[in-house]
Amino acid sequence: MRVASPPAGATSLRSRVRTMLAAGVDLLFPPACATCGKGGNRICPSCAQLVTPVPDTICMQCGRVQATRRATCPQCQAAGPSPLHRVRAAALHTTPLREWIHLLKYEDRPDLAPDLARYLAAALALPDWDGVRQSIDAVVPVPLHAQRRRERGYNQSELLAAALCRRSGLALAPDLLERQKETRAQVGLGALERQANVAGAFAARPAAAGRHVLLIDDVYTTGATLRACAQALHEAGATQVSALTLALPDHHEAA
Ligand SMILES: [Zn+2]
Ligand SMILES: [Zn+2]
Repeated sequence: MRVASPPAGATSLRSRVRTMLAAGVDLLFPPACATCGKGGNRICPSCAQLVTPVPDTICMQCGRVQATRRATCPQCQAAGPSPLHRVRAAALHTTPLREWIHLLKYEDRPDLAPDLARYLAAALALPDWDGVRQSIDAVVPVPLHAQRRRERGYNQSELLAAALCRRSGLALAPDLLERQKETRAQVGLGALERQANVAGAFAARPAAAGRHVLLIDDVYTTGATLRACAQALHEAGATQVSALTLALPDHHEAA
């Protein structure tokens, strides 16, 4: 279902229309599991069980997996203050979650977003994020550049953020942040190249001032994109920026 990119502000209406259309289509053509093909759900309960949650040894600040449980990893201790208050992923970027994210991003399956957002909602509800969750004022998806959004027909992070907000009652603010310049895809770039690639790519609106913003993205790789977004939000006066992503690559381990 490809639709032209809507004007700013039409997002929630479009996502409501999508939900209604999806519900109608489900009555006529019951969905099948995106992985095993079993009828009844886009993601069936048996495939959902194969998703690997992030281990509880993640760094409390950056969300990266550590060999042993410590509050903050050596990288965070060495790096000093970060524009990101707290970061975490919901699950490891392994089968079948990796395939679902690929379908969502590259195979025109925006209908998977509500099922995938369940993992975001579950991660947000974990006890170690109690203080974070309670102070969030606005949920902001990592924006795609307008041209890429037109090509894809939607921003997958925005669909995830919208579905998370419907589940959790948090406020969606997709217009707080915009991508000012087209950047190369981050895939295949090293950490420093990623940082240079996204530097200055984002700008935040003054409405971000005084807010604790929760950024939403699909995959958390080096965090360069999230940091560039957080920087822009702080420049606009945001008080805190945290980030929640669906998946963390499993090779992504700190010492
Ligand atoms: Zn299945
Ligand atoms: Zn860390």
